[in-house]
Amino acid sequence: MEIERHEYDVVVIGAGGAGLRAAIETRSAGLRTAVVCKSLFGKAHTVMAEGGIAASMGNVNSRDDWQVHFRDTMRGGKFLNNWRMAELHAREAPQRVWELETYGALFDRTPDGRISQRNFGGHEYPRLAHVGDRTGLELIRTLQQKIVSLQQEDHAEFGDYEARIKVFQECTVTELLKDDSGAQGSKVSGAFGYWRESGRYVLFDAPAVILATGGIGKSFKVTSNSWEYTGDGHALALRAGASLINMEFVQFHPTGMVWPPSVKGILVTESVRGDGGVLRNSEGRRFMFDYIPEVFKDNYADSEAEGDRWYDDPDNNRRPPELLPRDEVARAINNEVKEGRGSPHGGVFLDVATRLPAETITKRLPSMHHQFKELADVDITTEAMEVGPTCHYVMGGVEVEPDTAASRVPGLFAAGEVAGGMHGSNRLGGNSLSDLLVFGRRAGTGAAGYVQGLVDRPRIAPSDVDSAAERAADPFNPAEGKSENPYSLHSELQQAMNDLVGIIRRDEEMREALGRLRDLIARAEHLEVEGNRQFNPGWHLAIDLRNMLLVSECVARAALLRTESRGGHTRDDHPSMDAQWRRKLLVCERSGTGVEVTEEPQVAMRHELLELFKLEELRKYYTDDELADVQAKEL
Ligand code: FAD
Repeated sequence: MEIERHEYDVVVIGAGGAGLRAAIETRSAGLRTAVVCKSLFGKAHTVMAEGGIAASMGNVNSRDDWQVHFRDTMRGGKFLNNWRMAELHAREAPQRVWELETYGALFDRTPDGRISQRNFGGHEYPRLAHVGDRTGLELIRTLQQKIVSLQQEDHAEFGDYEARIKVFQECTVTELLKDDSGAQGSKVSGAFGYWRESGRYVLFDAPAVILATGGIGKSFKVTSNSWEYTGDGHALALRAGASLINMEFVQFHPTGMVWPPSVKGILVTESVRGDGGVLRNSEGRRFMFDYIPEVFKDNYADSEAEGDRWYDDPDNNRRPPELLPRDEVARAINNEVKEGRGSPHGGVFLDVATRLPAETITKRLPSMHHQFKELADVDITTEAMEVGPTCHYVMGGVEVEPDTAASRVPGLFAAGEVAGGMHGSNRLGGNSLSDLLVFGRRAGTGAAGYVQGLVDRPRIAPSDVDSAAERAADPFNPAEGKSENPYSLHSELQQAMNDLVGIIRRDEEMREALGRLRDLIARAEHLEVEGNRQFNPGWHLAIDLRNMLLVSECVARAALLRTESRGGHTRDDHPSMDAQWRRKLLVCERSGTGVEVTEEPQVAMRHELLELFKLEELRKYYTDDELADVQAKEL
């Protein structure tokens, strides 16, 4: 079969913040780089990010520094984070934000002209650099602008804009290819995919691949994620032999729209609460004061008066509990609704109208104002919004080496939401955009170093290309038996994940979910689509489903094994956090047609980082043995 073929040094899969930042780095190292994305260039989750990018620049409160950011991130992740990633992230985020300004970004300013920073859940000081509530748009616009400027340099040097960096948009990668013939084991040799419009196959021959494919939200029924987020990078990594960690941790953002049904799940940014919005139940009560967990008691206001004073005088008051980390707020809302104190459409009320003047709301939250007016006919300057939890972000992802973003498979790197470890059991808002830039850059450096160090270029076996093409075309030639429709299977998967592996989990429900998943996986062998490969959404979904099913199995299996509640994993049958579990990571690997989950010990934190925490605080997370160790070192 004749297949369109391209040769590059590095293929970056994904054109969100992580992918673009990685591509800038590999191209700047002189490597020929392809950026492949499933949707239009510029349309990625990154562009939808509203609230801002977390970096301890200390512009609004000079007490902020990387150590405080590191502490907040570890607390937010309930100490399950890969501490080295959290350290690199906290240290390097300010440089990455300043660098964006050198690329042309223009953030909102403080009165004295510095980059303004806003409050967000779990961040001790105002830390999120922002552009109104459209920060992701500025981030993507700027990274794209940087890529265009690199292309102009190439044009000046080679007479070809795309000599060293080229974007392949609306092109979906379905398979990674490896060369198993080398003496030192198998290495990445390229990627196989198809053009969404024509259905034609395309082959990228490259010794390094950087996965930057974002999240998995489309496996859940209620989600803030858009159609592309089907866990492709997670599944590609697994099938190539890499491991995934922390897959049981899925973040349900506390505030998604709940009404009308057609927009259920669409995100309501945390900035609404960061800027003063409060949550109330049907009785008008600010219920978050009833839900401050023991581990956070000292850091949050215990009266409305103190919480309200904090906005103007944060040094002498504690922050309001509406700004607890997302997992806490999502659980609280869930409980209020369950106990009958919800809003008419099954959420709670988010009120900014009685808290801020109308002109401040339209200035600081223009997208939210527009979103509610257009989609729900609600004017947020005069009325409360109705909100409820929505599946938003996956903390789990490809297990990577923190400094280089390298996976277990030589030549395969991962950065951004598709990588695991950085956020532990729960990500703080704003920490994703900074993660994309810090680890996007590091993945670029890691891949460049790897390619430059290679002695022989790995080769693609023609038979692997044929198999990839056959697999992609499977839904046109279903196995014998009942024919299955991809849309029905997708909707059954979403329902099962939402109901049985959602925000609150139980042993028997997850076992049921696994049973249903096995059934769906078997039925997916009989997926059948009509027509041909030319723009055929049913076929695209059939291909994506294979990934969603594999990744959902990882989530359900890991969630069943972790018998504690921590961050984005809440077990009704194991409601407390267990210090023994903090020492263990659950690692998913491909085994036969399914997934195997094993335990891996968490690497102990470097001592000088541990010293950033008071022993009192560590007591909430660490085992007695570990604490004895810490004390011994301090003596
Ligand atoms: P993405 O930006 O998600 O991009 C993934 C890319 O991979 C896309 O180009 C996609 O087309 C491509 N892709 C996927 N699969 C394939 C495939 N098989 N083949 C080819 N290409 C593929 N975080 C914050 O820090 N602050 C915020 O204010 C914030 N607000 C948010 C608001 C919303 C509505 C959402 C949904 C998320 C928000 N987040 C926020 C989270 C954050 O935006 C994402 O986690 C982050 O943008 C992910 O970036 P990424 O580069 O990893 O991937």
